[in-house]
Amino acid sequence: MAHRINLNMVENGLDFISKSLQTIERPDEDLKYSLINLHAGIQLLLKEILFQEHWSLIFQSIESADKDKLKSGDFISVNYDTLIKRLQKISGIKFDENLLDMMDWLRKERNKTEHYHFVVTADVLKSNIVKLFAYLIPFIKSEMIETELIDSDDERFSEIQEYLNEFDEYVKERLQLIQKKLKNVDVILQCPICNQETVEFTDETDAFCYFCDGNIKNFTEQYIDSFVDRYSHVMDGGEDPLLECPECDLETFLCLDGYQYVCLTCGVKPTQDNLTTCNGPRCNEKLIYRRYSDDGGYEADFCNICMDYFKHA
Ligand SMILES: [Zn+2]
Ligand SMILES: [Zn+2]
Ligand SMILES: [Zn+2]
Repeated sequence: MAHRINLNMVENGLDFISKSLQTIERPDEDLKYSLINLHAGIQLLLKEILFQEHWSLIFQSIESADKDKLKSGDFISVNYDTLIKRLQKISGIKFDENLLDMMDWLRKERNKTEHYHFVVTADVLKSNIVKLFAYLIPFIKSEMIETELIDSDDERFSEIQEYLNEFDEYVKERLQLIQKKLKNVDVILQCPICNQETVEFTDETDAFCYFCDGNIKNFTEQYIDSFVDRYSHVMDGGEDPLLECPECDLETFLCLDGYQYVCLTCGVKPTQDNLTTCNGPRCNEKLIYRRYSDDGGYEADFCNICMDYFKHA
């Protein structure tokens, strides 16, 4: 079986990509190593996808494919154009046009570093590399993590993302890319992974971060750990920031900005206008939905516990 042959293309690929980031903030001449390593890293990852399709596909000429040569590494491997074509036509990969453009730019720029004096300005180079990453990371996630070619908690890939998330130019680029999608989200929450205000929260099991480009596991727990200050509540006897939800009754109901509320369990998102507190005798001012009467005013209302109490009193 071909799959027993491990060419370590994923490990090496991620290694090269990680190395490309080590030189990205260095001046001028060193930057070319970012180009060279990034190009090498991407090639390896792409070849891995093809290799999983069939090992012979990473030979430039399939007629000369030979398992012994594969093991010894003594063969001409697929060139860039053929690699992309086979991925599209055989593996059915749909590349984002922008990613293809940026990878093509990278390939050309990388070739120049071999043949000419290195002249391109550092700023242009850096901003293009960053743009490439803004498309490359989602690509790796959808084509390699979701398909389990890369482990979802792979340390090197996490490191690469953590580095990028601290990199202002990258953050700016990603935020610009997702701007349109975020416009359609009415309540946006902060992400405990990337720290950007880019999460669309539907419910406990569905919290999508547009910046990270994926669902955030255990979002409720992580959000409370990162952003909800329950400690000072305990210390100063102030009000617990986590309230009881009027919908699901769990204590995961949170006021975001003095007006907008969200339940981090069931996902309801009422505003202050929709809420009032119960004045009944059995609860401690539980938040409840405000009920409007026909004449536009609103009626005094009680929570279920207090209503039950009245009925049975
Ligand atoms: Zn995020
Ligand atoms: Zn709830
Ligand atoms: Zn009550």
